[in-house]
Amino acid sequence: MKCPICKKEVAFTDPEMPFCSPRCRLLDLGNWASEKYVISSPIPPEDLENFPVDGKPN
Ligand SMILES: [Zn+2]
Repeated sequence: MKCPICKKEVAFTDPEMPFCSPRCRLLDLGNWASEKYVISSPIPPEDLENFPVDGKPN
């Protein structure tokens, strides 16, 4: 199969499969993070519980 980043042929035995190198894997992760999931500061569930939904502080 081919690396989705640089289209280089990747062996099925390659530990970085489907990427040809750790660099391409990181590049893909970067694309994924910046293009599809633009969440600047995700709120952890424990913080949501304490979040004042009615606008008043607890
Ligand atoms: Zn590559």
